[in-house]
Amino acid sequence: MTVEIGDSKRLELLVSACVHCGFCLPACPTYAITKDECDSPRGRILLLGEAARSGVVAPSVRRHIDRCIGCEACVPVCPSGVRYDQMLSIARRLVNKKRSISDRMWRAALLKVLPYPERMRPLKRLATLLSGSVSVRLLRQMGPFGSKLAALLLQGWVAGDLGRQADASHREGRSPSETRGRVALVSGCIAATYFQGVTQDARFVLEQEGIAVSVPEGQGCCGALSAHAGETEQAAGFARRMIDAFAPGDFDAILVTAAGCGAEMKRYPELLENDPAYSERAAGLAGRVMDISEYLCAIDPIAPRGRLVARVAYHEACHLAWAQGIRSEPRRLLNGIPGLEVVESGGLGCCGSGGLYALEEVELADEIGVRKRDAVLATGAAVVASGNPGCSIQLAKILEGVEVIHPVSLLARSLEQGGSL
Ligand code: SF4
Ligand code: SF4
Repeated sequence: MTVEIGDSKRLELLVSACVHCGFCLPACPTYAITKDECDSPRGRILLLGEAARSGVVAPSVRRHIDRCIGCEACVPVCPSGVRYDQMLSIARRLVNKKRSISDRMWRAALLKVLPYPERMRPLKRLATLLSGSVSVRLLRQMGPFGSKLAALLLQGWVAGDLGRQADASHREGRSPSETRGRVALVSGCIAATYFQGVTQDARFVLEQEGIAVSVPEGQGCCGALSAHAGETEQAAGFARRMIDAFAPGDFDAILVTAAGCGAEMKRYPELLENDPAYSERAAGLAGRVMDISEYLCAIDPIAPRGRLVARVAYHEACHLAWAQGIRSEPRRLLNGIPGLEVVESGGLGCCGSGGLYALEEVELADEIGVRKRDAVLATGAAVVASGNPGCSIQLAKILEGVEVIHPVSLLARSLEQGGSL
């Protein structure tokens, strides 16, 4: 398969910034597991450089690009400012043309269902119906495709119990009389199916802080899942829909509770740079997108925090830390809750989730997950806080007996009443 001239030139330019120093290797979770240079950022860059020069994507390139989680931990540690994230977007698009028919069908099916809440809900019911280790074990015995189905079933099953809506009856009538800001909330796709409770908690916290909240109609998926899968056109379609949905709004910021969605929406200007009808509007929207933790740290807190007594391990989502550079804010939010002991969750950093990654590269995702599980259990924390739905599902899958919760939901509990978790 050949590389188109435009992609080839762009790749060559991006690759040429790498001086092969290897400073990025210790940051890479896949290299930490396989110890194969081709599963490191430097190795992948060399493979892509060769593809750009020769104009041919060898089958082995697809294998090593597929094994990249897209965590972007290699980007901020690079002293030469290499934009591996941009290379990866091109590479994923290229290797998609190299897939087998069955592989394409599986990915197409996932992308026809997962970004659409109305299609996800029946799947959620099916996952609940088939829940149980027997079904998962049976599927795993059916080869690689069975393993992927088992991973999907397990994700749907564990996610079913996460982010559920709280009893909100005792929250009514508690907002301050004065409004000091206006924001719009992103409701998401997976979040609209499984994490409505997080959106509800975000709304409660913001209103307690004197912020008026709207959830614009007509939103859909932000496009992150499609972009991670290299389906740029589908991602661009979702982006245009989001821009239209948020266009008429009279608000100061667009708040996101899912790290992956925030990272993707901040990239809309890159995604739509060649679309004259949307490029300017994409920049306008991206400039107003903030993670909920970013926004809450930027305003002076006025809502009294109640005491929550617990040790909480903070899991740093890659798409919050590396893709958006948001590191201190979620920690500050958690440390602002009286009684909470906040510890780091450790491991390789990444949990192995990565969009469709845990459904595609099941074995490697599980191995990365095991490192994370052991590190979290070693902290002795009863609760792990994560600001990304994909990470939360992966963490719930690997951690038995540990509650997984969004930082804003912990804050909502604190504002609500305090007490022991
Ligand atoms: S990507 Fe950056 S850190 Fe990694 S080898 Fe290249 S120059 Fe060095
Ligand atoms: S994006 Fe993550 S997994 Fe991929 S090369 Fe960079 S550090 Fe490794």
